[in-house]
Amino acid sequence: MLTKSDFLLYMDAPMHLWAKVHDQQTNATPSLYDQHLMKQGYDVEKVAKTYLEKHILPKYKNAELLWQSTYTSGEYQSRADGIIHELDTDTFHLYEIKSSTSTKKEHLPDATFQSIVIGQSINQETIHLILLNDEYIRGDELDIEQLFSVPDVTDEVSEMTPDILAKMRQALEIVKLVESTSIVNCLNPKTCPCPGLCHPNLPKASIYNIPNLTPKKKRELEELKTIAIEDVDDDYPLTPKQRKIVDVMQSKTSYLDKPTVTGLLQSLTYPLYFLDYETYDEAMPLYKGHKPYQKMVFQFSLHIVSSNREAMQHEEYLALEPGDPASGLVKHLRKCISDQGTVIVWNKAFEGGRNKEMAELYPEYKDFLLNVNARMFDLMEIVSKGYYLHPEFLGSWSIKNVLPVMSPELSYKSLSINKGDQAMIEWYEMANGDKTKKDGVAKALLEYCGLDTMAMVKVWEKLKELTK
Ligand code: SF4
Repeated sequence: MLTKSDFLLYMDAPMHLWAKVHDQQTNATPSLYDQHLMKQGYDVEKVAKTYLEKHILPKYKNAELLWQSTYTSGEYQSRADGIIHELDTDTFHLYEIKSSTSTKKEHLPDATFQSIVIGQSINQETIHLILLNDEYIRGDELDIEQLFSVPDVTDEVSEMTPDILAKMRQALEIVKLVESTSIVNCLNPKTCPCPGLCHPNLPKASIYNIPNLTPKKKRELEELKTIAIEDVDDDYPLTPKQRKIVDVMQSKTSYLDKPTVTGLLQSLTYPLYFLDYETYDEAMPLYKGHKPYQKMVFQFSLHIVSSNREAMQHEEYLALEPGDPASGLVKHLRKCISDQGTVIVWNKAFEGGRNKEMAELYPEYKDFLLNVNARMFDLMEIVSKGYYLHPEFLGSWSIKNVLPVMSPELSYKSLSINKGDQAMIEWYEMANGDKTKKDGVAKALLEYCGLDTMAMVKVWEKLKELTK
């Protein structure tokens, strides 16, 4: 029996369906962030059920809500979220709940699969998605009537039906295969749930490490049997940045655009503020003024370097109690950052974006936060724009990949909290749950965020040394 989850696995990558059916998903434990999203999905589903009962069902005359009924058609099986059954006409309206704020690429195939399977048993008239309303801003209470948007996707589903029917048949064929050798791999093996199947001997530096390589080129290189980075030909067409990254990995020699990096470092104004935020987001807004998936800043770390290098200071903030964490945070941040100096971050789209959101939420700090953004320097760009490249970065500019190369004495490995998604979940549980763990979790969070800003200090120091 092919369920909807199986079909979605097939749509993700045919190999994943085969691996599941043949019990070969060696690396299938969902990440902490995925687990967090799944939990949020269940929470949204519960509230959406109330929404269906209170706000959708009454719009139909003489109707009942069928909740999570299972339907079977031949070799396919599907469980619908909500179906409204109009009793007088014996017609049915399908409502699929999705805990996102917009229609994602997998939602329509998902609804189409439901419609094909369920449509064999009932007289289906319309198909809808129930999504979180991106424009909803929470007041004192959660207003579930405003929380959701309900696009009618009946026409899109009907257009997609022939294609999805064909794919459902292909998925069944995959299930029946004894060997996986004829199944084409996906082009993103870096997050592989079953690496032994498609790439049993994937080299550490491969074509999948080349940033922004198009799917067409990845397939082209696969067909040429070029997987290891050292096998990429000198004349294979790549963008100048991709070529530079490949050259660095092939030659195992770092690259430094000394004039550009020197100029960038000289443009920084003291005091230097190395700033990092940690955030938590919840599908359904928790506090007044928040939207669905509002990113709430619950922690910052700030290393301050004055022109006298000896006097480096460290400031930090961690919200410890339930409630909107950013209100206390922004107040403390204001005390720590003066009106002079460059604010250095790793990925300014993130910290800058949070500052803009906090400026809307706390207008009394708007000028300050926007001014911080105007003085922001993105240290990551020195790597992401290819001004400094090292073979061991492996085409990445994540601080987690750059730091161990540039400052091997500092490491995230020994920390009990060492990833952003873990920090987010531990923080929420600490602030809202088990008080006995509070001190230990708070200490681990402070160490983690503190290392992020210390890492930036170390990278900056190393770049200064390299450009001497
Ligand atoms: S390469 Fe990995 S992620 Fe991609 S299809 Fe194969 S097993 Fe899945």
